[in-house]
Amino acid sequence: MNKYLSQLVELVEIDKKIDSFEPEIEKINAKLNAMLAKEQELLKQIEQNREILENNDLTIKKNEAHLKELSQKINDLAKKSAAVKTEKEMKALQLEEEIAKEQIDFANEEIERLENIKEQKEEEIAALEKEIEEMKSQIEEARSEAEKDLAQLEKERMKVYEDKQKLLSEMNHNIVVFYEKIRRWAGNTTVVPVKKQACYGCYMKINDHTYAQVIQGEEITTCPHCGRILYIENTPEEESENTQEEASA
Ligand SMILES: [Zn+2]
Repeated sequence: MNKYLSQLVELVEIDKKIDSFEPEIEKINAKLNAMLAKEQELLKQIEQNREILENNDLTIKKNEAHLKELSQKINDLAKKSAAVKTEKEMKALQLEEEIAKEQIDFANEEIERLENIKEQKEEEIAALEKEIEEMKSQIEEARSEAEKDLAQLEKERMKVYEDKQKLLSEMNHNIVVFYEKIRRWAGNTTVVPVKKQACYGCYMKINDHTYAQVIQGEEITTCPHCGRILYIENTPEEESENTQEEASA
């Protein structure tokens, strides 16, 4: 293989490696991010429960104030009943008293119901807080593990960038420009192998003339269909053996 072509093969491998770092970083962070998302979800649930609790407390207070008013009313009615003169007035007062007592019963039941909700929500909050507390050490563990892996990856990344700089400095400028131009649309398949006389970028069969050129490896050959740069991975002997196998098959 000619030197320029082998440099191109090396360059595309380096670029592939560089592109693989981003998903690798995401993979490293995935576990930690999932835990942090879970923690956020629990915090949100606590927040929602606290809001319910707050409204609940307010309603309890309202009912308590109402109870106070009602008991005042009962007292007032008792005073009034001492001063009534007619049976009609008496009956009216009794009716008012009955209504007030019913309202007291209702307010008491309501307070009891709300106190139950309060207790239940407080338990839920305590359970959620406990769950978060237990998650903390796991999160820290995942964080330090991710930091360690990221540091290792960063080292590898620096090394690959260095390799790329070194390679680029050794390469012919026009060839690099040619490569970059194809790379704009072909990405990591800018330089592809030919297998069984087919381009492994577009998977189309290449003509005999181009194939012969690729096997010779004397110059930089592009696929006549897609324009990607072609090379032979195997030695020409192996490739022709493959072709013979294929022909005899
Ligand atoms: Zn092609």
